[in-house]
Amino acid sequence: MSAASTQIYYRELCNRTRERIGGLHSPELLIRSLDFAKIEALQMAGKWEQAGEVLNRQAKALERGGADFIILATNTMHKLAEQMMQGVSVPLLHIADATAERIQQSGLRSPGLMATAFTMEQSFYTERLAATGLTPIIPEAQDRAETHRIIYQELCRDLVTKESEVAYIAIAQRLVDHGADCLILGCTEVGMLLNQGNVSVPVFDTTLVHCDAALTMALDE
Ligand code: GLU
Repeated sequence: MSAASTQIYYRELCNRTRERIGGLHSPELLIRSLDFAKIEALQMAGKWEQAGEVLNRQAKALERGGADFIILATNTMHKLAEQMMQGVSVPLLHIADATAERIQQSGLRSPGLMATAFTMEQSFYTERLAATGLTPIIPEAQDRAETHRIIYQELCRDLVTKESEVAYIAIAQRLVDHGADCLILGCTEVGMLLNQGNVSVPVFDTTLVHCDAALTMALDE
């Protein structure tokens, strides 16, 4: 999706492969890198069906190319997971499932969710978390708007500022004040500003959780 997200995934998959099996090992990957401006235009126009067709073509291309399974490097576009996987026989490793599983393993229950407005406000993501027994908490309207704005205007463009870090830390703390016992970085670029070092509750960075789960699946561990 955004080039920022794709790059984080690639770096993390490489680092984690080295950590797990050492030496000169690196992950065998097929990457379909898209023009995110076109995707963002479809998102903003609400043309989800059309965006789903784009993703479906990419998933089919990955399968034709030899992929054993697929990971989609964005939370938001998991809204279209079903359409993306139509006619594709290799599995999709769903980012929300991988994250929910990790939270369940930690015995936590009420994750705060910082993500795009689509992910926070539409049901496709929060309901999937709720179906596993979790009770996600989303920010108040103003905090949702600010979280979303920073994602698209800064993080997806590889811009990291102190000001936005401070804003994100405050939003995360308000979620904790509202009862969140952990925090989901529910957008693949949010880890550019938040991490376990500046949040007061356990942090689940969907990108890192997803990369770990992908490697576990690939290495058949
Ligand atoms: N990467 C973001 C996410 O995880 C948002 C941008 C996108 O749609 O890829 O939701």
